Amino acid sequence: MIVEMRRGAEQAEIDQVVATAREMGFDVQLNVGTEKTVVAILGSDTGRAPTDTFALLPGVQSVQRIMKPYKLASREFRPKNTIAKIAGIDIGGSQVVVMAGPCAVESEEQVFQTAEAVKKAGARILRGGAFKPRTSPFAFQGLQEEGLKILSRVSNALDMPVITEVMDTHEVELVARHAQILQVGARNMQNYSLLREVGKTGRPVVLKRGFSCTINEWLTAADYVLAEGNENVILCERGIRTFEDSTRFSLDISSLPVVHKFSHLPIIVDPSHPAGHFEYVPALAKAGLAAGADGLLVEVHPNPAHALVDGLQSLTFENFNKLMAELAPLAQAMGRYL
Ligand code: PEP
Ligand code: MN
Repeated sequence: MIVEMRRGAEQAEIDQVVATAREMGFDVQLNVGTEKTVVAILGSDTGRAPTDTFALLPGVQSVQRIMKPYKLASREFRPKNTIAKIAGIDIGGSQVVVMAGPCAVESEEQVFQTAEAVKKAGARILRGGAFKPRTSPFAFQGLQEEGLKILSRVSNALDMPVITEVMDTHEVELVARHAQILQVGARNMQNYSLLREVGKTGRPVVLKRGFSCTINEWLTAADYVLAEGNENVILCERGIRTFEDSTRFSLDISSLPVVHKFSHLPIIVDPSHPAGHFEYVPALAKAGLAAGADGLLVEVHPNPAHALVDGLQSLTFENFNKLMAELAPLAQAMGRYL
């Protein structure tokens, strides 16, 4: 932690900062300039020291932490990449794992047809929402438990693991009974009680980035799941809110190299929600792969024009096949495979 003293701060004020830090058990280094003194407070555990304690001392101008706010998600904590394991599938290894399916589960036939089509095209995991986080309470909220049962039956019939969103702490157990991967949606990235509950299940968790959250906040949220002893956390970049309104969100491609640099956790890209329109999905999917995504989460629907949710951004089976064919050589160029 760096404490910057005001210009012309009194020696007694500097001494008080130093004494406070030492009382807390930290080492102190002083940088006495001609006009200004800077106090560096050092120790492996300065994260527990409240910055406000120092900010409120007389003569202090500013206080800054120099350590990252997240710990368990950091590369310092675990230098080697984490490979999340789901029913024999590795996420974070050389395979780029494609998860595909409808935004929302609408019927058994719809899910079955989609699962068959995406599996044939090379997707390894089936996606589908049973609990839908809708902006309006009057919009279709998902088939809920019936939707989970449909996913589970299709998953067993086609031997495809399922990823589905869990929105509420009360539903974690129910969702975990039917799905192999729990998705925490963008709107719930900072729902800390939910993060703890999904952490306790031990099920792999896909943690979507909140659309107004920084990478630091995202990785710190991942710490909540990891702190429960659940090591299978997969981050998902799904776009952030910016001033640009030609697309639904702005896919933050930069988060991929940043996350790979500072965290050991695997990261996948959802090209569908930032695109908001099916025509943009392939470009965003390819950009994600080129930027180092360990997987993709893509919305596919048998008849997008009649989809109950997110039809405009959903790929038809034909468009999904085409995308998979285009991704294969790109994956190869990246030293990976689909
Ligand atoms: C979804 O995957 O269907 C979804 C609602 O995504 P997000 O939480 O990223 O908006
Ligand atoms: Mn959707």
